[in-house]
Amino acid sequence: MREAQSKPPKSLWAALADPSFVLPLREFVREHVIPAGDAIDRNDVYPTELVKRLAKQGFSTITLPAQYGGGERDFSCAVALFEEVAVGSAAVGVSLLTNFQAQTIIRLFGDESLKQRYLNAFCNGLLSSYALTEFAHGSDIRSLDTKARREGDEWVITGEKHFITSGSGAEFFVILAETPVGVSVFAVPRNTPELTIYEGPNSETFGLRNGPHMNLRLDGVRVPLDHLIGTEGKGVRQAVTTLNYSRTLAAAISIGIARAAFEGAYARVAERVAFDQKVLEFQGIQWYLAEMLSDIDAARLLVYHAAKSLDTDDDIDRYGSEAKLKAGEMATRVASLAVQICGAYGTMVNAPFGRYLRDAKTYEIAGGSSEILKNTIGKYLLRRAGS
Ligand SMILES: Cc1cc2nc3c(=O)[nH]c(=O)nc-3n(C[C@H](O)[C@H](O)[C@H](O)COP(=O)(O)OP(=O)(O)OC[C@H]3O[C@@H](n4cnc5c(N)ncnc54)[C@H](O)[C@@H]3O)c2cc1C
Repeated sequence: MREAQSKPPKSLWAALADPSFVLPLREFVREHVIPAGDAIDRNDVYPTELVKRLAKQGFSTITLPAQYGGGERDFSCAVALFEEVAVGSAAVGVSLLTNFQAQTIIRLFGDESLKQRYLNAFCNGLLSSYALTEFAHGSDIRSLDTKARREGDEWVITGEKHFITSGSGAEFFVILAETPVGVSVFAVPRNTPELTIYEGPNSETFGLRNGPHMNLRLDGVRVPLDHLIGTEGKGVRQAVTTLNYSRTLAAAISIGIARAAFEGAYARVAERVAFDQKVLEFQGIQWYLAEMLSDIDAARLLVYHAAKSLDTDDDIDRYGSEAKLKAGEMATRVASLAVQICGAYGTMVNAPFGRYLRDAKTYEIAGGSSEILKNTIGKYLLRRAGS
């Protein structure tokens, strides 16, 4: 056998994304994100400095129109961004993702005054969260215990949100609340009086640890009328459309987690010796690696197809769901095999493989569980059948 290569196998990304965009980003990730990945996870802290830095370099707003200061890139760049960042830290990836969700709902549905005010602020590093979930409402957001009512020229919002990713660092929240005509969406800055952000008993997760998933208490929070995003009563449709966008990027994060697990395991077995040979030389180990590599490449192709569907606005519910479903499950499988082929080293707290496995599994639930994604694909099939 030839000497084991120290470089990982060529990744498919080069055929799919613009190298002039990816290469400097990869350099940034190598220098700043990869070294921070373990500590962010261990300490469960929001990576404020890193996310602000990425924003200042235009990475947080790459798909926003240029008129709001965005990069106006297509979604293949966006999925390349999320994959690369997640190779270093899925937690940094989800921190960028909650910014993307807030931008997207404002871009698609917000009044011009909101766009001028907040989309430009995102280019300067505004950090945000996307708050749908409540104690009693997770997958099902059609009715909510958080209520909003109009009082003169303000909306008054009362209720409680749970499990809010990026909540410890966010300066701005998108909040779902029920008004008399149905579920609606509101923009709420962090410094609004009567908004309390606190850590609850369920705030700490074992994966995607970018700081505790905070609870928000809204005790008569007042916002101006134009802080209603989109149309009153159409909040579920707007929130789900936004999720259809962000699911493709969540899928790209899962690809990044899987790639980190694969590359780490590959490097390990290329060096590790057992029974007088490199562990990589055992055919059983090569088969694991072959499955991992081909699974990652297959899922990545689906993610890039989903990105294209976002550019052309073509069946984004179907492709976003397929991409997140397949990439999420694949990442858990790959991360689990990575632990297996690294042996005891794979299980060590000081090695990153446990983090990859925890992050990958958590992404089968956060941002749309696998079951809800299958329901969405099922609804697409019913629609096609005219039912
Ligand atoms: C790490 C993490 C980060 C999160 N971040 C955020 C955030 O930033 N903002 C936010 O609003 N929420 C957030 N959440 C909450 C997340 O959106 C919900 O956990 C998710 O929607 C599932 O809701 P649930 O946990 O209440 O499960 P439930 O709704 O109680 O569901 C329990 C189980 O039943 C399944 N299920 C539910 N309905 C159906 C159905 N119709 N058909 C088949 N199976 C079904 C679910 O898939 C799940 O397996 C986060 C969650 C996690 C784990």
